[in-house]
Amino acid sequence: MKALVFENELKFHNDYPIPEIKEGEVLIKTSMVGICNTDYEITKGYMGYNGVLGHEFVGVVVDGDKELIGKRVVGEINLACNTCSYCAQGLQRHCPNRQTLGIFNKDGCFSEYFTLPKENILLVPDNISDEEIVFIEPIAAALEILEQVKIEPRYKVALLGDGKLGLSIALVLNAYNIDFVHIGKHEEKLALSSKMGSKTKLLAEISNEYKMSFDIVIEATGSKGGFETSLSLVKPRGTLVLKSTIAANEGLNLASVVVNEITIVGSRCGLFAPAMRLFENNKIDVKPLISHILPFDNALDAFELNKKKEVIKVLLKF
Ligand SMILES: [Zn+2]
Ligand SMILES: [Zn+2]
Repeated sequence: MKALVFENELKFHNDYPIPEIKEGEVLIKTSMVGICNTDYEITKGYMGYNGVLGHEFVGVVVDGDKELIGKRVVGEINLACNTCSYCAQGLQRHCPNRQTLGIFNKDGCFSEYFTLPKENILLVPDNISDEEIVFIEPIAAALEILEQVKIEPRYKVALLGDGKLGLSIALVLNAYNIDFVHIGKHEEKLALSSKMGSKTKLLAEISNEYKMSFDIVIEATGSKGGFETSLSLVKPRGTLVLKSTIAANEGLNLASVVVNEITIVGSRCGLFAPAMRLFENNKIDVKPLISHILPFDNALDAFELNKKKEVIKVLLKF
C-alpha cells in the first residue's frame, strides 16, 4: 500500500505492507487525512518517532468487526493498556504504557490502511463531510482547554498564535461564546478569526495596557518568543494555558511565574465525543481553515506546502 513514512527522513512508499489486525482492532481504509504541526515536529526529531506518520483522519472500516464494516469513522489517537492505575481512573490519555497513532510506537494514518482498537472508534453522522470531520482531533484538543480551565464570564481572556492550532482554538472559544482577544502576527489569519467572531489584535500593535492584564492566556504559538509574550500578558494569580509543545531546550525565564504566582496548565489531547457534537450541531465551520486538498500521491509536496507561512491546513485525499 501507499504510505508516508518517517525513517530519519520523509519517504513515500508504494509497497508498504498492509497492517494485520490484532485482537479487538479494526482495519480502516483511509479516505482523508490532515497534516498537523506535530507531524512536522516529528520530521525534526520530536518523540524520536520512526514509522508511518499521521493521526488526523476519516476513513471506512473494512475488517475486524462485522457491525462496523462499511461505516465511516474517526478515532481517538491514544491507545491505552486498560490495566494500569491511570487507566482505572479513566486517564487513558495519560496511560504510561500508551501508544499514540503516528506519534509514538504505533503506525499512523498516512497510508491506505491502518488499524485502531475498536474502543477508539466513533461513527461519523451523515450530515458531516470528510473535509470537516478530519478536523476532529485538533478541535477536540482545543476543547480540552475548557475541560481543564473554568472560564468565568467576567474574565479577560487572550489567545496567542494564529496558526492551525490558534485558529482551531478560536473556533471552539467562539462556539462557546467566550469573549477573548486573538493576538497574532498575520493579518489574513486574524481576519479569518475575526470572521469567526473573535476580537483580534496584531502582535506588533499590542500596547502596554495589555501587559499583566489577562486572567487567562492561551499560548498556541509554538515558539519560545510566543511563550514569553504570553507569560507577560497574564495578570498576577492568573492562568497560562500551554497548548503548543515548544521544542525549546533554550532557557526559559520563569521568575515571573513565581513573582506573579501564575498557574501554568499544560493541555494536550481532548475527547472526541464533545467535539463530534460541535460538528453535528453546526456550531463550528472549519472549512475556512482548509488551504489545500491534494491527492495522497502528492504527500511529499503537501509537506513542503505545510511549511509556508500563509498556509493553514493541508488535507490529503485518497
Ligand atoms: Zn494533530
Ligand atoms: Zn494504562
